[in-house]
Amino acid sequence: MDDSRFTRRGSLVRLGGFLATAVGAAGLEIETSEGAGPAAVASGAVTCVLTPEQTEGPYYIANEALRRNITDGRPGTALLLRAFVVNASTCKPIKGAAVDIWHADAGGVYSGFGQGAGSRTFMRGIQRTSAQGLALFRTVYPGWYQGRTVHIHVKVHLGGDVLHTGQVYFPDTVTDAVYRRAPYASRPNRDVRNADDSIYRNGGKKSQVKISKNSAGVYVASIVMGVHRS
Ligand code: FE
Repeated sequence: MDDSRFTRRGSLVRLGGFLATAVGAAGLEIETSEGAGPAAVASGAVTCVLTPEQTEGPYYIANEALRRNITDGRPGTALLLRAFVVNASTCKPIKGAAVDIWHADAGGVYSGFGQGAGSRTFMRGIQRTSAQGLALFRTVYPGWYQGRTVHIHVKVHLGGDVLHTGQVYFPDTVTDAVYRRAPYASRPNRDVRNADDSIYRNGGKKSQVKISKNSAGVYVASIVMGVHRS
């Protein structure tokens, strides 16, 4: 094994360790069957790869508030989103990056547009990453809108540069379970699932969250975003 491979593997193992630490510190649970550490690296559960760039789409609004709870009190199934930002070259967490997310509400509406034009803030917000590279958001499970599978948009900024523009996806089986309940159940069935989404098909699988419920019964979705530092 050459030196560069050794170093990379070492970084991957450390990444597993920091993920486990971060999870413990936040008092949250992720899928323990996946675990962390060397076994997780070997199984591919913890990776350090470049996350695919995906279109920001038509609904981005810049300069939203720095806040964890982005719901503005609107209804929906509670969701904690744990977005980790790591350097795809070194596998080390990036501290102080601004993670900017936006998504449709339970009714499939974006603030600032169409039926949501009366507000420019619901389901939008920014968090800075911690020393562990973690940006934590409190929101609701996104609703669907015509022609797209369920997703959350994300941008990562650092020092005035955009490091990443992407979209985060959810397992269809979890979405099915959430959508069987209020307020989602009052809408028609969604028209597109992951495999049928033209944007998801271009790398979306690498941007799919790991999701489970914590001890309080709240969905916790975790994603590791590997980015290039410019
Ligand atoms: Fe969208």
